[in-house]
Amino acid sequence: MLHLILFGPPGAGKGTQAQLLGTQFGLIHISTGDLLRSELANRTELGLEAKRFMDRGELVPDETVISMIMNRIHQMSETGGVIYDGFPRTIPQAEALDRILKSEHEKISALISLEVPHNELVKRLMLRGETSGRSDDRNISVIENRIKVYQEKTKPLIDYYNQQQKYHTVDGTGTIEQISQRLTNLVKKIKNQN
Ligand code: AMP
Repeated sequence: MLHLILFGPPGAGKGTQAQLLGTQFGLIHISTGDLLRSELANRTELGLEAKRFMDRGELVPDETVISMIMNRIHQMSETGGVIYDGFPRTIPQAEALDRILKSEHEKISALISLEVPHNELVKRLMLRGETSGRSDDRNISVIENRIKVYQEKTKPLIDYYNQQQKYHTVDGTGTIEQISQRLTNLVKKIKNQN
């Protein structure tokens, strides 16, 4: 089974591209951001607790996110695989994911990082804020904090996966179709080697 991590800062286009890849390659799309927003929409205790972090552009505690992902992976039936979007975001999350997958006799196939310059990210997020209904996309200081949190806590994952020779990059600029084509070419290669 393929287990792909779509990686990159907020605004890199992970959600859009993960959805497209999911459909194309028959992968389940797991977005921890979407799972958290759905908990919040249902006003669960977990969702209300997570909101405090999300509103400030901080990461939700590892234990919360890891237990949420464990439930989701254990529910996973026979599929072509999984595309992870917005997870893992810290080293403890990456280690937990490796443990969970190992217990299912699975492993991460690759991490694909979408590369987008900083000023383009801010522009995209502000634009998305006009239609997404996400309060964390509307406030410039929250946006800047999310990018800072990415640099400090999430970027170190590049080393973690690079050491395992699983790190790949894709140019995340251009049209949705252009980016999607680049990703498709790479995923086909990864699939053949898997
Ligand atoms: P996203 O939709 O991926 O941009 O996530 C929105 C917000 O949800 C983030 O700014 C975090 O507050 C929270 N979040 C999503 N995924 C994670 C994760 N893997 N670890 C911690 N917090 C997360």
